[in-house]
Amino acid sequence: MALQSTDVIIIGAGPVGLFAIFECGMMRLRCCVIDALDIPGGQCAALYPEKPIYDIPAHPKILGGELIDQLKCQAAPFKPVYYLGQQVLKLEKNANDLWQIETSLGQQIEAKAVLIAAGVGAFGPNRPPLEHLESFEEKSVFYYVKNREDFRGKNLVIAGGGDSAVDWALSLAEIAKKVTVVHRRSKFRAAPESEAKLQTLAKAGKIDLVVPFQLESLAGQDGVLERVTVKSFEGETREIQAEFLLPFYGLAMDLGPIAQWGLQLNTSHIQIDPKDCSTNIPGIYAIGDIAYYPHKLKLILTGFAEAAHAAYAIRSFVHPGEMYHFEYSTTSGVPAIGAA
Ligand SMILES: Cc1cc2nc3c(=O)[nH]c(=O)nc-3n(C[C@H](O)[C@H](O)[C@H](O)COP(=O)(O)OP(=O)(O)OC[C@H]3O[C@@H](n4cnc5c(N)ncnc54)[C@H](O)[C@@H]3O)c2cc1C
Repeated sequence: MALQSTDVIIIGAGPVGLFAIFECGMMRLRCCVIDALDIPGGQCAALYPEKPIYDIPAHPKILGGELIDQLKCQAAPFKPVYYLGQQVLKLEKNANDLWQIETSLGQQIEAKAVLIAAGVGAFGPNRPPLEHLESFEEKSVFYYVKNREDFRGKNLVIAGGGDSAVDWALSLAEIAKKVTVVHRRSKFRAAPESEAKLQTLAKAGKIDLVVPFQLESLAGQDGVLERVTVKSFEGETREIQAEFLLPFYGLAMDLGPIAQWGLQLNTSHIQIDPKDCSTNIPGIYAIGDIAYYPHKLKLILTGFAEAAHAAYAIRSFVHPGEMYHFEYSTTSGVPAIGAA
């Protein structure tokens, strides 16, 4: 596979990585973007494409998936080159004194600067420790709801006690045949308003709450789920007829190969200087959920602002000594640049 060259390698095509393409483009920097997932959009696309987000400036309400479509559209004039479905494994200096990455598919790319927008790292769901779980995964057991309609008229078990479990129970109760929520505590960890709604639906018989119980085993054939067995701490077991199990036990955060690149870390995050999003290694910057500094707010809008700061700093790093006149986009328009 031929070595590709660009100005900035962006690791992670989540919302923040996508906006970074735009901000780098405004600085006339070309970008290659790599993501381990098959689609751009990070957590928004993988975990909540159909959930409304309410705190994106100028969008009183926008679905996770819609936000990603808009960000891709905004980045498109800068002709980013996407390398999807491949994880960045290696990052090291090459003989040209440039940063060079290598992906799990063997793609090599070199650039003067690297912008890490890798979110929670190589993220994956926390999976319940159940025997034969793999045979049901992606058939009857799902950790994300990609299309709510898939569950219309079905019997569902939702496991977990946080916001995702409760929000999806409320949402899917509108279309499913039956929703059973299994949680190992009687108290939920969701927003109080959502929990109140859950309790109201439970009292009305629209949702079955099975608490405090834990998942014990799955029964079915060829990945087609028939029953979920749950067990209380006292040893009482119950069988629930279900076609789908949706465990929402949160995300496992694992920096993966990023932890081996010599970056200064702070409990699974990359320590940056918030002034320009630089890391301890010259030419490597980090933004979004993965970047840490005191009082950091892990929000999409925080990542957007960091993308602007980082792009501005990267411009000087890639073109040292070159004068750059900062302009509003209303003045500069969207500059035309060649593909990476
Ligand atoms: C259910 C839920 C609801 C939320 N609601 C809101 C909300 O209302 N408002 C808000 O502001 N935030 C919300 N968030 C948080 C928000 O989604 C995150 O802050 C945001 O996604 C962070 O964006 P990011 O681009 O930094 O990282 P991510 O979205 O995590 O994207 C990072 C990408 O990097 C990729 N990656 C990681 N390591 C590698 C590697 N080595 N090689 C290649 N690719 C790699 C991953 O595959 C991933 O696609 C919510 C989160 C969840 C889970």
